[in-house]
Amino acid sequence: PPAEAPIVVINAHGLPYLNAAEPIKERVADLLSRMTLEEKVGQMTQAERGALAKQSDIATYLLGSLLSGGGSSPAQNTPRGWADMIDAFQLQAQRTRLQVPLIYGVDAVHGHNNVAGATIFPHNVGLGATRDPALVEQTGKITAREVRATGVPWDFAPCLCVSRDDRWGRAYESFGEDPALVTRMATIVDGLQDNGVLATAKHYAGDGGTAYGSSTTGDYTIDQGVTKVGRKELEAVHLAPFREAVRRGVGSVMPSFSSVDFGDGPLKMHTHKELITDVLKGRLGFKGFVISDWQAIDQIPGDYPSDVRTSINAGLDMIMVPYAYPAFTDALKAEVEAGRVPVSRMDDAVARILTQKFRLGLFERPYADRSRIGDVGSAAHRTVARTAAAKSQVLLKNAGGLLPLRRDAKVYVAGSNADDIGNQTGGWTISWQGSSGPITPGTTILAAIRSRAASVTYSRDASAAPAGHDVGVVVVGETPYAEGQGDVGRAGRTLSLSAADRAAVERVCGAMKCVVLVVSGRPMELGDLSGVEAVVAAWLPGTEGDGVADPLFGAVPYTGRLPYTWFRSAAQVPINVGDAAYDPLFPYGWGLRTDRGRDRLKAARDKLSGGDGPSRAAAATLTPALAGRNWNADGSVRDTRAVLGALGAAASLLERSDSDSFTLDDAVVSVARDVAQSAGKRPDLQATADHELAAGNLRKAVDLLAQAAR
Ligand code: BGC
Repeated sequence: PPAEAPIVVINAHGLPYLNAAEPIKERVADLLSRMTLEEKVGQMTQAERGALAKQSDIATYLLGSLLSGGGSSPAQNTPRGWADMIDAFQLQAQRTRLQVPLIYGVDAVHGHNNVAGATIFPHNVGLGATRDPALVEQTGKITAREVRATGVPWDFAPCLCVSRDDRWGRAYESFGEDPALVTRMATIVDGLQDNGVLATAKHYAGDGGTAYGSSTTGDYTIDQGVTKVGRKELEAVHLAPFREAVRRGVGSVMPSFSSVDFGDGPLKMHTHKELITDVLKGRLGFKGFVISDWQAIDQIPGDYPSDVRTSINAGLDMIMVPYAYPAFTDALKAEVEAGRVPVSRMDDAVARILTQKFRLGLFERPYADRSRIGDVGSAAHRTVARTAAAKSQVLLKNAGGLLPLRRDAKVYVAGSNADDIGNQTGGWTISWQGSSGPITPGTTILAAIRSRAASVTYSRDASAAPAGHDVGVVVVGETPYAEGQGDVGRAGRTLSLSAADRAAVERVCGAMKCVVLVVSGRPMELGDLSGVEAVVAAWLPGTEGDGVADPLFGAVPYTGRLPYTWFRSAAQVPINVGDAAYDPLFPYGWGLRTDRGRDRLKAARDKLSGGDGPSRAAAATLTPALAGRNWNADGSVRDTRAVLGALGAAASLLERSDSDSFTLDDAVVSVARDVAQSAGKRPDLQATADHELAAGNLRKAVDLLAQAAR
């Protein structure tokens, strides 16, 4: 491979498609007009890099794309190793007649997670808990920088699934159960695409809606199952985030392994012409290309040529074969020659793919930009991951105000996830399913606690007698898993804590005041919490354990809110905001705060004072509510009526503001939520209020919370 990226594309013949000054549309048309059938078929083929019999197969089969599947992370998993590997592949593409660059794809679903030493962010479930679309966009930007620095221009992310059942092993890849929330988080598409990387909205559509036990093979499977919905519900729940991603110009979409059943039987999404061609490319106006999921066309009933024909005629543009590139290219060629796949369909597919390659600048810069390799896992990037982890922490319970902890406390730490980077990063980290242990550099939660507390004793199973400590921190939860393997019922997976973790909680919390941190990809059955003062949902926070410790010791307040309804018992699952009988342990949107309501409102007021007309009017409305007589000494609301009245009025005004003020709205509504939460009534109204907030209906949210507080 080249040591420094050489510019090998010399446009000696003045070909229009190689001229960067030409409009992309012209370049695509020119290149397409020069291509043979074989060259076009190659562009529609994506092989797994480990499947290549030899590197020269890239040139022989004219492959347009390669990927590293989650199952085969390269042995050379250093940033430079990646860049060398991809540049060598790219060199093969440069040996072909037309020198069309490869587009290489990876699953960088929480940072550049295949590369040891990369910055690992919280998984999407934690990002959903931050309720901070701007921060989520920033995580996309940093992921893009690290990905692109190693020569990768394409990311199979974000997952815009709306997960409706915690038993699904991909629940943590979802921003939450509420389509309005997932839609808000589509800002991550901009973060990726504005920084040189093609994003993939996946898995279209209904991946998070499959029914437990719906597998066509009759077992308990929920992953790749069947989503039984009406067209209206599919549109409102599962298509909504994709509509937003398309509006933001997402360049690729991946269909779901699952099937959709509108009442007339299940149809594999990879054959769903109505949803892919008519709805996505037609009504929603998607201009990018559709990439199949891994070997997904092999699941279509019929022989291989029929799989190829059916999927491409349904509207798929590129197929992740990922091994069968000789069989696929032969079959597609034959289907086109026989007229069973129209040439116009093939040309449309190739034009869509080439458009993205031109947009990414791959023709001009096919190689890794080695000057940026030092960005991978940089201190600046880790700081953002730490902030994201801190903002993702959801304080579920805090009896007697145990949190934040004092730094002079003598702390006893226990539990299976206190000192394990692998468990803290979860699946899709270094390997497909992830694994326990020190799999990549980072700071464990234990290490972060050690750097803060005056004295720390650690025993994973709490076997040592935990006497003489002020407070216990028991870090419990799940071990890593990814698709398939994480489904409840598979390999003994349940939604309950392990016996060892339960024993650790009992031992520690029986002996001292304690906080339980749950490191997991989804809500878990926690059992009897009466002896536990504080509980925090830490999700899968990534490499930066300091982000977990920051709010724990009060460096920043707890501000995260539940992206999922937290069930009392696993028997209640599926349970979602909007359900008729809604009796959760903690409703969707729940999250206690450790900052003072009055301070928060004052900060919002000050910020609004510098905004547009409606914002300034809202600020004026809030000022009298801040009067000392309305508040208790601890900063909580004393005169509920006065404060809620002002919040309602401010909310109405803010709805007329032009600024996208989700975070600011949140500051206003969070005070109303404090009141509702402390009253502890009507979890259904509290949850619905959070949904209304995500949907942009601030006034409605405040009114519902006021009602819940009554
Ligand atoms: C997953 C996708 C992923 C693809 C490539 C599939 O098994 O469903 O989310 O992008 O593999 O690794």
